[in-house]
Amino acid sequence: MSIATELVTGGQTVRPRRAVLEMPEYHPPLAGREALRLDFNENTLAPSPTVMERLHAMTAEGLTKYPEREPVERIVAAHFGLQAEQVLLTNGVDEAIHLMCVAFLEEGDEAMIATPTFFMYDVSIKLMTYGLVKVQADESLQFPFERFMAAITERTKLIIVASPNNPTGAAVSREHLLAIAAAAPQAVLMVDEAYYHFHGESTMQDLAAVPNLMVARTFSKAYGLANLRIGMLAGNPGLLKYVRKVSSPYNVNGVALECLPVALADEAYLAWYAEQVRVGRERMMAGLAALGVPFFPSHANFVLMKIGPKHAELVNVMRKHGVLLRDRSTDPGCDGFVRITIGIEEHITKGLAALKESLQEIGWAAQ
Ligand code: PMP
Repeated sequence: MSIATELVTGGQTVRPRRAVLEMPEYHPPLAGREALRLDFNENTLAPSPTVMERLHAMTAEGLTKYPEREPVERIVAAHFGLQAEQVLLTNGVDEAIHLMCVAFLEEGDEAMIATPTFFMYDVSIKLMTYGLVKVQADESLQFPFERFMAAITERTKLIIVASPNNPTGAAVSREHLLAIAAAAPQAVLMVDEAYYHFHGESTMQDLAAVPNLMVARTFSKAYGLANLRIGMLAGNPGLLKYVRKVSSPYNVNGVALECLPVALADEAYLAWYAEQVRVGRERMMAGLAALGVPFFPSHANFVLMKIGPKHAELVNVMRKHGVLLRDRSTDPGCDGFVRITIGIEEHITKGLAALKESLQEIGWAAQ
């Protein structure tokens, strides 16, 4: 059976909203990832063993029930020293971004990001408004604070800043983030702390004092739960209630909700994994320096390397060596740049060895 590409109803062609036609699409290269996955900044090993125990203890009847988000939001809030109404669990931070845009952006409103950054901001913002303002970093790829501040206008309604940022690994200081929130009282500042555990600096403790601040955290990275799709938004209950209003009551599945409390409780596992990454990141950066590969100092669980014209060749050859990397060349200001995820010690050893061989194989030389 063939499916018509244009759906015709009563002689009329059905079209999506113009914003949907024009918004960019995000198609991460997810096919064929049976190798060492140093391409998506995931945990490279596993979640806490307690999560697997809880998964195995799930009953068939448990799967028949609609998920209950609220009791888990209370547990999560207590864990982070927050009130339950300050927390919304989401289907990954991806959904948190989407819900923030749906809740706060009217057509014509301005929303601000600093580029290069996580691509989903672009997608979700453009779905709602044509007013996406991008402030491009200079060659250092550090957050362009002064120019960013200067670009805030009275039409700015939503500001999203990732700290540490993806794909650069650059962090934005708490002082700068608070200055942005203060400079745009008519806007919501969403700080995306997806990579918080590999850095350690947060604005979560400022939520009570800064009414227009929202903090997003994911459980996909350090906690190793990317496949469960769970993240959180924390912030002012007065603003969060609008985000809750536009979210589905069942946005987070019950398997994720079962597992999250045990993952949170195993603080020793989380600390161990974060330490593996911190130590491994130093090792990776030292290894890159020894190979003569320029890179951007990172505060996250990945490092962005400057490979140059042979970027795609390197990614292909590394795949043949059983290691996946992510080519970031199409990101603004990132031509020739490739990103490598930092995982556990053994994976760094394998990644570095494959990198050394691959660079030799493609005849790479520092420029
Ligand atoms: N924010 C940033 C900065 C990211 O890099 C990513 C993942 N690549 C996400 C959010 C998405 O996280 P989640 O898996 O929770 O949707």
